[in-house]
Amino acid sequence: MSNSEEAFAEAKKVIPGGVNSPARAFSAVDNEPIFIEAGKGSKVYDIEDNEYLDYVGSWGPMILGYNHPQIVESLQGQVKKGTSFGAPTQVETELAELIIDAVDSIAKVRMVNSGTEATMSALRLARGYTGRDKIVKLEGCYHGHGDSLLVEAGSGVTTLGISGSSGVPNDIASETIVAPYNDLEALEKIFNKYQDEIAAVILEPVTGNMGVIEPHDEYLENLRKMTADNDILLIFDEVMTGFRLSYGGAQELYEVEPDITTLGKIIGGGLPVGAYGGKKEIMEYVAPEGPVYQAGTLSGNPLAMKAGAETLKLLKQSDVYASLEEKGAYLAEGFRNNIESLGIKAQISRVGSMFSIFFTDTEVVDYQTAQTSNTDVFAAYFNQMLKQGIYLPPSQFEANFISNAHTEDELKATIEANYLALKKVKKL
Ligand code: PMP
Repeated sequence: MSNSEEAFAEAKKVIPGGVNSPARAFSAVDNEPIFIEAGKGSKVYDIEDNEYLDYVGSWGPMILGYNHPQIVESLQGQVKKGTSFGAPTQVETELAELIIDAVDSIAKVRMVNSGTEATMSALRLARGYTGRDKIVKLEGCYHGHGDSLLVEAGSGVTTLGISGSSGVPNDIASETIVAPYNDLEALEKIFNKYQDEIAAVILEPVTGNMGVIEPHDEYLENLRKMTADNDILLIFDEVMTGFRLSYGGAQELYEVEPDITTLGKIIGGGLPVGAYGGKKEIMEYVAPEGPVYQAGTLSGNPLAMKAGAETLKLLKQSDVYASLEEKGAYLAEGFRNNIESLGIKAQISRVGSMFSIFFTDTEVVDYQTAQTSNTDVFAAYFNQMLKQGIYLPPSQFEANFISNAHTEDELKATIEANYLALKKVKKL
């Protein structure tokens, strides 16, 4: 038994499934998780001291690589002062200012502790502000595990083959209407049918949780127009794409402003943070300014705020996004060449430093087409990459992340490993 196998056996005795979040369990790739001891730059190290080149990045936050010295230093400084007070600290304002400065559609922002909390709170705010109850979400988009949003929710749910989740009351789920991604006609029909009942449409502007899927040309612009025409709020869930696709997120890249934005991952620099923000008149509905209640003992926690603020300052100073785009393009081209030369049924989907490999020759534009991927081939591919020391998200329906710490040599090595892995899975 390896150290990780032993650790997993122990964990399973005391933690459901041995993990604190299902996607970590490796069940979709017929394997067992590696227990991590440490991370540095682009690498993680398991408890046997094996080294892996990593494309998980803690599922998105680690855009600057693991254990960035400046972030570590700022955390150490804060630890000495205290880890939590439950009272205002100036670093909360600092992070809020950094976010508002970066994201044009946000005039005020409230910090929470996770992406789930951010989207749950954003929905409550949308419902409170509009006085309407129904929510439209798009099939395959994941917005955390809040009751209203755990319907046709991609990622872990899709991977595990569970449609929704038990424990979600029908009365709540039935207030969520699901439409396909990249399909404006379907939305139009829904808007016509439930015109005065819909509070908001929530979506991942670029999806990561059914694999990376790009919005069609004009899709986001038209969605903006249609929602505005119907007095429906538009919520961009940028928990994954915020500060990832550009400093101002997907909304800056595609030049479309939502009414409310949810954030997480990168804005916590690896500590647990989420946030929701938007137009002033909407955010003024949030307590104690307004009637929509939302609170948190550890919200705005100074350690998490420090890590987040330091991360954003580093991202703002450098040309990291141009460099990530270059790295992403290089890796994708290498993978595409491999796919072509080996004649494999696969495609690479990429926006900036987020990418997926789908094992299908159907063009992937939404949840249904993503589902044509061969997950057995993905599992074999994943395990072949792992054997070569490359650690990928253990699911076909997740985004891979490149960090600023990945070097050209490492990307080259990844392309070579990808070739060998694809060659092995070709026989399947
Ligand atoms: N929204 C999106 C787009 C996400 O990718 C995630 C997490 N992967 C969430 C919300 C939920 O965030 P958390 O896991 O921090 O609750």
